[in-house]
Order: sequence, then C-alpha cells, then structure tokens
Amino acid sequence: MAMVKHMNRALSTFQPFTSNSDSGEPELKIALVALPYEEGPQRIMPLGLQNISAYIKKNIKQKKSIKIFDYSNLESSNTEQLEDLISWKPDLIGISIYSSHVCAAIHWGHTIQQSLPASFIFCGGPHISLAAEDFLIRSHPTFKLAIQGEGEHPTRILIEHFNTLPSLKNSIDYDNWAEQIPNTVWINSKGKIKHSLDKKLQLPASEWENPLMEYHSERLQNLYFTDRRDKKKRTAIALTSSRGCPLSCSFCAIVAADKEGPKWRAVEAETLVAWIGEALNSYDFQHIYIMDANFFVKKERVLAFSRALHKLRGGTLTWSSSSTVGYLLKIRHELPTLVLQGLRLVEMGIEAGSQSQLDYMNKRVSVQNNIDAIKALQKNNIDIGLDFIMFYHDQKKQEIIDNLIFLVSAGVTEHESFDHYFNIMMLYPGTPVRHNLENSIGEKLSLEKLPFSRDFIDNYDVKKIYSTFIDDFAKPWLGKLEAAISSNLRVLSQSKSKSLKAQLSLMNIYLRHMPFIVLWELSHAKKHAPIEVIVPQFSNYTHLIESLLHRKDEATIARKIVEIGTTGVGGRSGELISKIS
Ligand code: SF4
Repeated sequence: MAMVKHMNRALSTFQPFTSNSDSGEPELKIALVALPYEEGPQRIMPLGLQNISAYIKKNIKQKKSIKIFDYSNLESSNTEQLEDLISWKPDLIGISIYSSHVCAAIHWGHTIQQSLPASFIFCGGPHISLAAEDFLIRSHPTFKLAIQGEGEHPTRILIEHFNTLPSLKNSIDYDNWAEQIPNTVWINSKGKIKHSLDKKLQLPASEWENPLMEYHSERLQNLYFTDRRDKKKRTAIALTSSRGCPLSCSFCAIVAADKEGPKWRAVEAETLVAWIGEALNSYDFQHIYIMDANFFVKKERVLAFSRALHKLRGGTLTWSSSSTVGYLLKIRHELPTLVLQGLRLVEMGIEAGSQSQLDYMNKRVSVQNNIDAIKALQKNNIDIGLDFIMFYHDQKKQEIIDNLIFLVSAGVTEHESFDHYFNIMMLYPGTPVRHNLENSIGEKLSLEKLPFSRDFIDNYDVKKIYSTFIDDFAKPWLGKLEAAISSNLRVLSQSKSKSLKAQLSLMNIYLRHMPFIVLWELSHAKKHAPIEVIVPQFSNYTHLIESLLHRKDEATIARKIVEIGTTGVGGRSGELISKIS
C-alpha cells in the first residue's frame, strides 16, 4: 500500500443533503463534469457521462437531480466558466479524467472544492482505470473516491449510500462506508490507499440505458453534420452503442483501460434504433453520430440497424460511425444499400501506409487492405474520416515515405483535413508501446502528463524531419494555408466568372498538396538544411499564401482564422464534431 506524504492538509466536512425549498424534502443534486480535454483541436463529447446520467435517472428511485456540465471545449485557464456549476451547489460532483489533462483536472477539481467545500468530489474515466492511485496521490485531498472501469453501477451505489456518508476524518468508518461501493480506490485519513473488493468492471450491455435522453442536460454542445451528398447541414446527436474493441493496437488507450470481460460488447440493433426513436419523440435531429471505437464489428448488427433506422422518420435520418479496415471490407458489398439507408461517413482506423509501421502497431492488416477499404468508401461516395499516425518514436525514414506513397495510392492527397500529416503516436499509460519505451530507456514515464512523443524519437533523420516539418512549416504556416484555402472558397462561392472559379479551384488543389510536398522533400533530403533550401517550392507557396491573405476584403477575415490556426499535432482529427457557430 502506498502512503500519502502530506496528511496535514484540511479535510472537508461533508453535508450530504441539500433541502428542496419547494417541498421541504431533501433532494440530492449530482453534477457530472467533463473538463477541457487538452489534446489538440478536437471536440470530445461527454458520452460516458451521458451513459452514467441515463443509468442513474432510470435506476435510482430517491429524489435527485442530475446534470451534465460539459467544459471540454474550453481552455484549461477558463475556470471562471464554472460559475453555473458552482451556483447550482451540487452535493456530489463526478469528474471524468483523461491522461491528457491530469494537471488541468487537478486544478479544476481544486477550484471546485474551494468554492464548494461541502460537495463530495469523486472521479472516474479512462485515466482512473489505468492510474487511480497515482491520480489520487497527486490530487489529494480534492477527490474523495476514484471509480475504476465503467461508471454506471458504482456511481449508483455511491448515490444510494450517500446519506450514510461518515466523516472522512474517521478512517475506519470511511473505509467501511467506501468498501460498499464497487471498483473504487480512496485515500483514508491515515494516508493509506484503499480499494473496495468487488472488481466487476463492466456493466452488461443489456443494462445500459438510453444516453440520448440526456440531450436536455445543461451545457451539452450543439452538434451538426455537414452532409455533402444531400448538400445540407443536419442537426445531430451523438452516442455510443458499443464499448471496447476486439483488436489490440499497441498504442491504444481504449484497450489498455478496458482490461476485464469481453473486449467488445454492444447493445442489439433493435435497442439502438429504439433509443433513437425514443429521442425523436423528445427533440429534433437529422443525423446520428455513432461514436463507437469500432461500430462495424458485427456485420448482421450493422445491416439490421441500418434497415430499421431507415424506417424511422420516412427514411430521412442519416448516420456516421467508425470502422477498422477488416470489418469494413467484410461489408463492402452492402455499402450501396447502407448509403441509400443513410450512411454518410465512416471514420477509418487506417493509422499507417507502411507495412512495417502497421505491424509495429499490431494493426493486423496489409497496406493493400487499407487501400481497398478507402477505395470501397470512395466508390460509394461515403465521406472518410482518416485516422492516421504519420510519425512515431521508433520510426525509420522509409516508413514516412511509405506513408506518403500510400496517401497517393489511396487517392487521399486532397483529403479535406490535414491532421493526418501531423499526427504523432501518443504514449498512453498502460499501452504496449509505452511499456516497451520505458523498458528501453530504463525508467517509468510520469503519469502527470502525457509524454512529449517527439522527445523519444530515436532515429536522427526522423527527428530532424519531424521537427522541421512541425516547427518550420506547421506552426508558422499551416493556419495561414488553411485560411488561404478558405479565402479562395469564399471568393469562389461568390464569383460568377467561370474562369476565376476554375483558376481558384486549381489553386486550392495546388495549396492542398503543400503538406505532402514539404514532407516528401524533407524525407528525401540528402543533408539537413533550412526548409527553403530543402523544399524548392516552399517560397512559391508562402508568397502565394501571403498574397491571398492580403487580398482586398479578405485580410480581416483571414487574419482572424489564422489566429485560430492549428497544427493538429498530437491529436486526431476534430472534423467529425463541431460546435454550431
Ligand atoms: S482498432 Fe482502434 S479502438 Fe481498436 S484497438 Fe485499434 S486503435 Fe484501439
């Protein structure tokens, strides 16, 4: 058992119940909180919190009010936004913790505790499943309980036992009380780390509740989906219908956090469609984001879902989800039917175009499989979300070149998002790639923040290519490049001149190839030199970008966009979900 070093800090005295002034009866207020995610420009929906909230509402009879507070799209410095949570004065506050934002989570948790000293703050989420003890020690004494594994059942037991919560100062009473709550870890007043005994970390899929009924919760982000096929913007909702993944990619945090029970489990297709039908009775939406790690695992389930969904709302609903290559190829002949029934986009876990890199990642597919899967989607005019890791710490230069050749072979050099050029493999706790790295460097990496992957790039050439690509191209120019393309699109959409339209369209194709050309030249350089020397076209590109950004009437808008510019480094594409502006 680990001991906590600083036990002289004040512990809160809890006052479990607040009074409902209308009826005089006690009402328990429960807040579930998603914090700034801190990993690149992405929107992360609090899908796990939606699941927990739905389960609690359905399964707890006592008087309670439960709300989701989603701050995930904010900067970690925006703690003033907590005002709505603080003024609500919850009795219990559950915070979801990711490995990418440990420091921010501790800071936000501390801020909440300072403002609400009577509230009981607990935590869960992927990082807690991997590193609960480390997190509790770092954050002590803010978080009173950490829930490992799936949160529904332990949160329910916590709420049901909350009215018997003893003082934290009495370690025996508190230990006895906390031991009733399954899958939990805590630090008692003697500084000892304790665990409850029950270790059933997964809730059977038959007990999951409809998470779509949580769209009335406060602070959930509004979603939309841009449907290119039907040329319309659709209001959207998001949910998960399965958990885990049957595969075991060597870098995957989902698999690492999901150790017990079946690796992949899902609600039946009929249940999923019934959830959507129930939600349609409450509010309006036209698109469903199914945010599963791997939705296409069971072909018959996908076909049954698609068929049944098409019968709702006169077949006007559309949907999108994610797949790995093997499962997508198994369903490729049914793709035309799925499109007719509403499939619009598949987020593909391609990850690499180099066979040795795919093998390193334990992807269990060939480069040709990857090409075939993308071609199958293209043939059916299904939009593609490209999950792709261009760089990793054990990489050889040839693998970068192979990745680029793959992008050409698969016909995705003009893919709308640029993120796939800049992603580097993250080193999540509990993953084989991180274990191997720790073994090779002979030390454990800190759990306080995700390691800066570029610091561990082993090969000198790869390190040089990566740092030049990111520091000399992406950071100063990527935002401007995106702004120049947007500026052209704006002029294009307003112009009546066919020749101007043709000229700007061609120019955008030229601009879209800039990341490819820069990385290709860097990967073929014989010696290291400034980027303008290695990439002969670099100055042409930058002059063109500057001239477009200073075009009359465009400068103001363009500058504004440049300020928001992103390098996309370290995270996956955020293109699937955006906040309605
Ligand atoms: S396919 Fe995706 S979710 Fe499954 S193990 Fe690989 S990276 Fe993780």
